[in-house]
Amino acid sequence: MSPPRRWPLHPRPGPLESLSSWLERLARLYNLSVKDLLTHNLGLLDLTVPADLDHDPPAMMLAALAERTGVEPAHLKAMTLAGWEPWLFDTLYLRQWDAQATFDIYVRGNSVLLAPGEAGTNQVSRWRTWGGPWFPVRWLNRVCPACAADLDRGKALVWRLPLMIGCVEHRCRLEDTPDLTPSIALDGERPQPIPVDEPLATLDRYTHEALTTGRVPLPGRTVHVGVWFRLLRSLLDEVSLALTTRSTHGRTTLEQIWQSAGRPERAGLTSWRPYEQLDWDTQEALLHAAATALQLVASGRITARGRLGSALRPAPHRPVYDGDQPSPHGPFPHHNAWQEAMAEVEAAITLARTDRDTARQLLALLTLGCRTLDRFEKERAYLFGIGIPADFLPSARELGRVDLA
Ligand SMILES: [Zn+2]
Repeated sequence: MSPPRRWPLHPRPGPLESLSSWLERLARLYNLSVKDLLTHNLGLLDLTVPADLDHDPPAMMLAALAERTGVEPAHLKAMTLAGWEPWLFDTLYLRQWDAQATFDIYVRGNSVLLAPGEAGTNQVSRWRTWGGPWFPVRWLNRVCPACAADLDRGKALVWRLPLMIGCVEHRCRLEDTPDLTPSIALDGERPQPIPVDEPLATLDRYTHEALTTGRVPLPGRTVHVGVWFRLLRSLLDEVSLALTTRSTHGRTTLEQIWQSAGRPERAGLTSWRPYEQLDWDTQEALLHAAATALQLVASGRITARGRLGSALRPAPHRPVYDGDQPSPHGPFPHHNAWQEAMAEVEAAITLARTDRDTARQLLALLTLGCRTLDRFEKERAYLFGIGIPADFLPSARELGRVDLA
């Protein structure tokens, strides 16, 4: 067997860096275009370079890149949106998928502030361009002004999505690239980074924690990354709803949130649209309302009546088992171990959607550490929430967990 054919220079990808950003940095080192790097220099002359490298690039390309750079294919995949399936996306929504069913399960199947079912129904099929949860109609092109000052730093994949306001490391707002570049060219100075204040800083920290460790320590309990993104998406939907058609509790809760956020109710929306169809300014206002809601629930000033609401307020009594804590050493030394574990669980989840035995085993595994029936039910609800049929998921009693009360 011949030794791997390494490129002489191959800097490691940065934490959460997108594949396109890393490839741009590599190509710049060799003074090549990304296309040339991926065809001639990768020995893949016939490769059709994908229009967007961050979606779902061909496995053959990732394997060849892994050989030239020593970065594992699983790590490279995790730098693309395909690598965030099924935590962030149920599926990549590129192949055949049912938009309405996805919306009903991912968004409306969960609830945070409002009682389950109170959000009602909406037809997402009216928006032909709706690409699924978090898939924006227009991809954002934002950078952190502090990161951009360092040519060895890349861009995070999550900056392209309407999910975060700022760079967690530098605690400053991400800026649109077109806004940034001319100002550098004009006066040679970069714009002053604008700090991200509370409550948005906490929201950004939760999402960053989810992406780097797979868990989010919320005031009520630590939730799995898959639960966090469904919780946040459901919350963003709730704050976008009309106040007048809610219950009294729902209406006063939403009023309080918008008042505290100091923004017009519903971010000025007059008719409902899925989050992904809105412009970034409106999305940002909704993220602000969602962050305000998290703060108000945690401090007990509003009550979250939804299925996932209990995760947001501190528990009155500390539970015996409060979930797996993230590594105290930080996420990065274990980054690859996490990616590997993720790939395995991903495969199990995909199989469990159509295979009863796998679903049963997955539930049994996931609930091994559960000491109460309540926790067991939450894990079971999580699996249901990511598309595993309810009748594939046995009850605690059916699984022989008579120890749970
Ligand atoms: Zn930064």
